[in-house]
Amino acid sequence: MKITYPHMGTFTLVAEQLVEELGQESITPTRPTRRTLALGARYSPEFACIPFKICLGTYLEGLEKGADTIISGGGYGPCRAGLYGEIHHRIINDLGYKPHVIFLWPPLKRPLDFINKVKILKGSSSWLHLVKVLRKCWAKLSALDEMEMLAQDIRPRELVKGDTTRAFNQGAAFLKSARTLMEIREAREAALQQLKNVDQNEEAVPLKVGIIGEIYVQLEPFANFYVEETLGHMGAAVRRSIYLTNFTRHDVLSTKGDMRSRKLAEPYMPLRIGGHGQNSIGDVIRYSRLGYDGVVQLAPFSCIPEIVAKSMMPYLSNQYGIPVLTLFIDEQTGQTGVQTRLEAFVDLMDQNREHSRR
Ligand code: SF4
Repeated sequence: MKITYPHMGTFTLVAEQLVEELGQESITPTRPTRRTLALGARYSPEFACIPFKICLGTYLEGLEKGADTIISGGGYGPCRAGLYGEIHHRIINDLGYKPHVIFLWPPLKRPLDFINKVKILKGSSSWLHLVKVLRKCWAKLSALDEMEMLAQDIRPRELVKGDTTRAFNQGAAFLKSARTLMEIREAREAALQQLKNVDQNEEAVPLKVGIIGEIYVQLEPFANFYVEETLGHMGAAVRRSIYLTNFTRHDVLSTKGDMRSRKLAEPYMPLRIGGHGQNSIGDVIRYSRLGYDGVVQLAPFSCIPEIVAKSMMPYLSNQYGIPVLTLFIDEQTGQTGVQTRLEAFVDLMDQNREHSRR
């Protein structure tokens, strides 16, 4: 099979290894571009959320490169994620492509369906081989998360703008080519060292900013206008509420979601409303308690779970004393607008910090 799949931050490196080690050909998606988005937007319903449009554009680009199979995932709850696969499939068929579409639901939601689909993907490989491959993928995923967090801490202290991103990309390239557990361990060490070698202003005390919101726009830098890097260059150390390892633990291998934030959200929002809407409410409280200077909520335009969460933000911000900036994102959103709003937000956090010192 020639398999393509969505591009979602560093996940792509892991998905490529998984597909190839199961004996299939990976038509690895490249980072989405304006063309990818335009292609997806052209064939999507107007009010579909931006992850839907970018993923559709990515699939179409993969099909142009010869993919005959598409793999994607679905989510829980009453948002559109549950319908993604079916609607994507119909649009792609209407455009004349007839790929095999494998839509993986979280394993605990539909265990039999999940096992049957995994059987197709693993082909003639044994289950033991699959377990070994998954171990390696987990090691790679953990290393990438570690690298991302270290880069987020170093970037606001870097002396030469862009050094952290360059070191990160180099480290990611080491991990991309590492295939055995030993190679992954060595690549992780080398990548972390590469980041630690970045020249830093040791005396800088960066602002701390939590990034919350919908998973795709959190994890895919193209979809969020490189918000992490932009904030880093403005002197803020960021932490996302979602990394691939915690998402796997809380939302793939469990049906409960991230209980750290769900519990905090329950007095205000006792129900799961789809996506990470309930988490976004709890995450504001969590970051406030952790002493963060502010929170940026990333919300695809027309994403109901994040719109509901957004309606709570003024209250939460007041009640818990933490500024919250919500960025709604669609294909009309421009880099300059995002940059300007982030600059104003950083100014506000700087002033708050200054004020609290007096
Ligand atoms: S969480 Fe929001 S952006 Fe994601 S699929 Fe659901 S509605 Fe769309």
